[in-house]
Amino acid sequence: MEQTFAIIKPDAVERNLIGKILERIEAEGFRIASMKRVLLTLPIAEGFYHVHKERPFFKDLTKSMCEGPVILMVLEKEGAIKAWRKLMGATNPAEADEGTLRKEFAVSLEKNSVHGSDAPETAVFEISYFFSQTEIIP
Ligand code: GDP
Repeated sequence: MEQTFAIIKPDAVERNLIGKILERIEAEGFRIASMKRVLLTLPIAEGFYHVHKERPFFKDLTKSMCEGPVILMVLEKEGAIKAWRKLMGATNPAEADEGTLRKEFAVSLEKNSVHGSDAPETAVFEISYFFSQTEIIP
């Protein structure tokens, strides 16, 4: 069973959307193999988004990820990585398809409510960045 890494970002947690987003995740047949609510520090957010270090939006992005608690999850499903990206929708909510989480909940390109790994190697890095082996329940 494939695993992917997901975040409910501060903008969505702040607007009390955790329950609505989890409902969609479960309805789409994902198993939540692990989940926790944490407040990221700037160095942790910078390490997580290190691939975007040279991007002009790096500072804004990392700061916004620390503005309130986030929900971190390991999701499991056949083809979980692609399936979760599909459920999230396009990065920019203005371009996201009907029925996607970003279309429904995101407020802007930066405050786009959810994160998901974009490839198998990324999923391995992102899961291990936040979860130890013993926290992922088979
Ligand atoms: P994702 O994989 O769909 O999350 O998109 P990316 O990996 O390209 O970007 C990571 C995150 O950076 C996005 O989810 C947005 O929150 C943020 N982001 C992307 N592009 C921009 C931008 O042009 N400006 C700002 N402020 N944030 C951006």
